[in-house]
Amino acid sequence: MDNDLIKHKASCHDDYDPNSLAVTTALDLINKTIQPIDGFEKLNIRLTVGRTLDEDILAPLNVPDYDNSAMDGYAIWHQDLTTKTANTLKIVGSSFAGHPYEGALKPGETVRIMTGAIIPTGADTVVMQEHVQLSNGNITIHGSHSLGQNIRKVGEDVKQNSQLFPKGKRLMPADIGMLASLGIAEIKVKRLVRIAFFSTGDELCAIGSTRTKGQIFDSNRYTLYGMLSRLGVDIMDMGSIPDDVNAIKSALLTASNTADAVITTGGVSVGDADYVKDILEEIGTINFWKIAMKPGRPLAFGQIKNSIFFGLPGNPVSAMVTFYQYIQPAIKRMMGQDDTLYPTFKVECISPLKKKPGRTEFQRGILFKDQSSGQYKVKSTGKQDSHMLSSMSQANCFIMLPTEVSSIAPGTMVDIQPFDSIV
Ligand code: AMP
Ligand code: MG
Repeated sequence: MDNDLIKHKASCHDDYDPNSLAVTTALDLINKTIQPIDGFEKLNIRLTVGRTLDEDILAPLNVPDYDNSAMDGYAIWHQDLTTKTANTLKIVGSSFAGHPYEGALKPGETVRIMTGAIIPTGADTVVMQEHVQLSNGNITIHGSHSLGQNIRKVGEDVKQNSQLFPKGKRLMPADIGMLASLGIAEIKVKRLVRIAFFSTGDELCAIGSTRTKGQIFDSNRYTLYGMLSRLGVDIMDMGSIPDDVNAIKSALLTASNTADAVITTGGVSVGDADYVKDILEEIGTINFWKIAMKPGRPLAFGQIKNSIFFGLPGNPVSAMVTFYQYIQPAIKRMMGQDDTLYPTFKVECISPLKKKPGRTEFQRGILFKDQSSGQYKVKSTGKQDSHMLSSMSQANCFIMLPTEVSSIAPGTMVDIQPFDSIV
């Protein structure tokens, strides 16, 4: 990371700050400044789904590797179709997938051919079996047939020596199938990004323990664990740490010794027990971003030795929203991925929504299929307070309301980010 994330000064201490960062500016800064980690591993292709390719892959072969039939039928020489009505050809053999016809077709001859089988030498066209009549070892072909029909040409899927995949591609099931079709068994992928995280707060109680008065169960550790595991990183869960300078400092130092990034929740707002800022100033560098958004501020970015530090707000919804909007794209950059933007779609919103102008809001929505119109529409999950994690649990999308917008009337088209394309 270069220093831009740190240098960008924006106070989080005022309630309204005209200099607060726009959501897109914050994302640009992340994209510009977070760099892919170094280090790769060579893995069997089966183990690489979701991983980032760390080499350019050139096709060692053509796919298909030879002209082959797209149909079950008969391979012919097109010039043998001399009349427009009926042409009779002699069947001289067969070409099955994996069992080619070894001879060469002579004029007046045809070869029975199956899907995927090699086109015999001398043939240039395949006629579907439904379009021929069979009798006494001959076929009679009716109608007109175009030259080259029903033949899959060599290299029409992938050309030999062309670039199959660029470095930085996130590998999906079809990709490992493509690699297999080229005979490639092992590839270089980025090593797993290592993320350490812990929650902070004297009020936190681990599940399984008995709460004392004023304690709450620590849920952020579980949402964070869930989000990180879907992202496919090496996870180091360091538990929850009390609001104690020495305990937080020592946890941050331990985490930064082994992890590429450290994520904490809580303790980044301006309260008596918000130690993260002081500690980071002592052992690293830190900047608090005030982003013109709701929920989600403040958000802290920093560096401790070679680790990147992300300080998320403690409120459960704010922690999730800031993770998805900023930390996940940042981790994807560290993983070596180029495209970290989420797709957005416009749909009609059937609920009235309240919003203050001057900030982007990520409200929680439910995308559903409207039975009467057959169209997808969105409705609000209801209360949008940032401590109400149930709103995230009921939602299946974010409704993104841009800065300038005030309230939304039912029937307005809004931008949504479906969770399935985020996680
Ligand atoms: P903070 O950012 O530390 O001021 O916390 C803001 C709010 O989030 C407070 O109500 C905290 O009790 C709550 N909170 C902080 N950390 C967690 C956590 N790990 N799980 C659930 N709630 C939390
Ligand atoms: Mg706290």
